[in-house]
Amino acid sequence: MSERRIAVLPEGIANKIAAGEVIQRPASVIKELLENSLDAGATSVVVVVKEGGKKLIQVTDDGIGMDERDAVTSFLRHATSKIATYDDLQAIQTFGFRGEALASIAAVAQVSMKTRREEDEAAVVVKIEGEGDPRVTREGRERGTTISVQNLFFNVPARRKFLKSVATEFHHVYDEVHHVAISKQDLALQFVSDDETIFHLRPGSLEQRLLDVFGQRQFDALLPMEESNELVKVHGYIGKPGFGHKTRQHQFVFLNGRFIINRTINHAVYSAYEHLLDKGTFPFFLLFLKIDPRRVDVNVHPSKLEAKFDDEQGLYRIIASAVRRCLSEAGAVPALTLGGNEGEPGAIGLRFTPRQFSWPQEDFTRPPSAPGGLRVDTATGEILPSGTSIAARLLSDESRQDRPPIVGIPGVDSSRETEKPDLSEISLLWQLHNKYILSQIRNGLMIVDQHVAHERVLYERAVRRFSTAMRNTQQVLFPRPLELPADDFGLLSELLPHFVLLGFDINPFGRNTVLVEGLPPDVRVGAEEKIVTEILGLYKENRQHGPMDVRDNLAKSFACRSAIKAGDPLSEQEMRSLLAQLFETEMPYVCPHGRPIVLRISIGELDRRFGRTD
Ligand code: ADP
Ligand code: MG
Repeated sequence: MSERRIAVLPEGIANKIAAGEVIQRPASVIKELLENSLDAGATSVVVVVKEGGKKLIQVTDDGIGMDERDAVTSFLRHATSKIATYDDLQAIQTFGFRGEALASIAAVAQVSMKTRREEDEAAVVVKIEGEGDPRVTREGRERGTTISVQNLFFNVPARRKFLKSVATEFHHVYDEVHHVAISKQDLALQFVSDDETIFHLRPGSLEQRLLDVFGQRQFDALLPMEESNELVKVHGYIGKPGFGHKTRQHQFVFLNGRFIINRTINHAVYSAYEHLLDKGTFPFFLLFLKIDPRRVDVNVHPSKLEAKFDDEQGLYRIIASAVRRCLSEAGAVPALTLGGNEGEPGAIGLRFTPRQFSWPQEDFTRPPSAPGGLRVDTATGEILPSGTSIAARLLSDESRQDRPPIVGIPGVDSSRETEKPDLSEISLLWQLHNKYILSQIRNGLMIVDQHVAHERVLYERAVRRFSTAMRNTQQVLFPRPLELPADDFGLLSELLPHFVLLGFDINPFGRNTVLVEGLPPDVRVGAEEKIVTEILGLYKENRQHGPMDVRDNLAKSFACRSAIKAGDPLSEQEMRSLLAQLFETEMPYVCPHGRPIVLRISIGELDRRFGRTD
């Protein structure tokens, strides 16, 4: 008879193996115990650690407690009070549900639990160590539960050796307690390490809690944000640009109260900050997401640090859009500091009164200044002189039409109004060296770079065109063949569908040659050869700097090449029109390449510079 080869592992060994997954270090124990306390409805929790949790981890709560039977059963693997059927798992509302934490912890440490329900006379004390049987006694205590975990991995030497220094383990423990501190402002939370109280937080508002946890300086650098749609409700805080951190440690995402790490969400936030932070720095963000539990799976990671969403794209869009709008509304404009320390990011000093500004239509109807061909008005079929003047190009403003939401910029949703400066307050406008628009604003001076301002306008317009079927093309009546280098011709063929969406009408015309028969309204007829070639050139250049979305690259290249240039003289009306269009955009303060568009100098700054004291 052959020997039996397969045997079911004894419970103790199975738990030890499972512990390897759930419990990696003292911080994992803290996380599990804190979650159990919160699931038990605790309003007050005390966390005590010694030697970074290597020697002792103790969590005391005032939650519902357990009777004797539950207290003993809770240490069995897959013992849980939180789900009973598979269906419960689909709509999980508690932190725990796998029923393996206590079993895993008890398998690799010396554990004692003291717990009492309101209705019981005395508390139950359960002591359990490694694979030994639990010992039960009784003692007095208030309602609630205390769990002490000593000498983690005492019976798994390889694991024990693997633990890092006390300082490092403390750091990880701190992070776990920190997460609870941030996300549960109703919870009184005390944290003691090696007999020293690290913090003692009282329940209060979220603002108060953040102030307590992060301190005044960091708190002052935060912007509140909120957004919701049928998929998700988001609220939280993001850091003002200019307050980037050297590490990613200041990033917190809580999904239905649970701290998670999710790359999609992080990227959505980074994308909104693009160009607003110095290289190598990371934004602060703290996001609370509420999503129907049936639409997420939190059971994809043993310690439930990750989550899977059924609509990851939708999530990306709404978060990117919310963050972008928050930054834009806060006027994330680089303030000009002339060496002083007024470097207060986020203040533009304009009063925001949305949609107050409207410019009389007739003011734009200037005759075109330099005829360069003819164009057909696509709406009326009328033949018009081509729009060669800058005014005419600014006139081709689609922003006055009812426009669809910009869905092409990942996540931008223009359904809610973005706050804009009150341009009617701008009484004086002046063009400096045909390059900068200077204007007096309520509390100082605003300087706008005309090229990048127009670039921002055209960029957003291009992105919008990509996402609508509405074509807007001016016909070139006498198109000329344009011969391109072979590689440019190849690239153009590749990008052709996108060019068409932008408003170009380009057709093959023999070897390496095309006929540009139609142009977007913001491109001057006559300039088509130059523009197409330059767009292709810039497109290639952008591509060299790293992977980039095709349409985003094309929109940027188009905007940069079609925008008015430094050196183009502008009339006052053109300047006003440009400013009006600029502040209609989602991101009026940074150009698509990250250069600032608007700078301001406050009157206070000028007074200081001139030594005025009145
Ligand atoms: P899970 O949290 O996944 O259910 P655990 O092993 O963490 O599994 O806990 C097992 C059970 O023990 C829980 O379902 C809960 O009923 C009970 N329990 C654990 N900690 C506490 C506590 N602090 N207060 C009350 N009950 C607790
Ligand atoms: Mg648990």
